[in-house]
Amino acid sequence: MSSQLAKDQLGEMCVVCGQSKFKGIHLYTSFICTECEKSIISTDTSDPQYKYYIKQLKKINTPEIYS
Ligand SMILES: [Zn+2]
Repeated sequence: MSSQLAKDQLGEMCVVCGQSKFKGIHLYTSFICTECEKSIISTDTSDPQYKYYIKQLKKINTPEIYS
């Protein structure tokens, strides 16, 4: 309940830029803001910046396991 209130006030933290944004997409359990989504799409795969995005996105596919 309180976390939902926090979301409404602060937005959600983008996994790529690490900033709280209101607009974006959800990928699995993570959030990517609209700006980063556009940046990823418009970045050429040979661009070094693209590797950074992929690195950030890989965090999404490797959830922490508590066992
Ligand atoms: Zn972002």
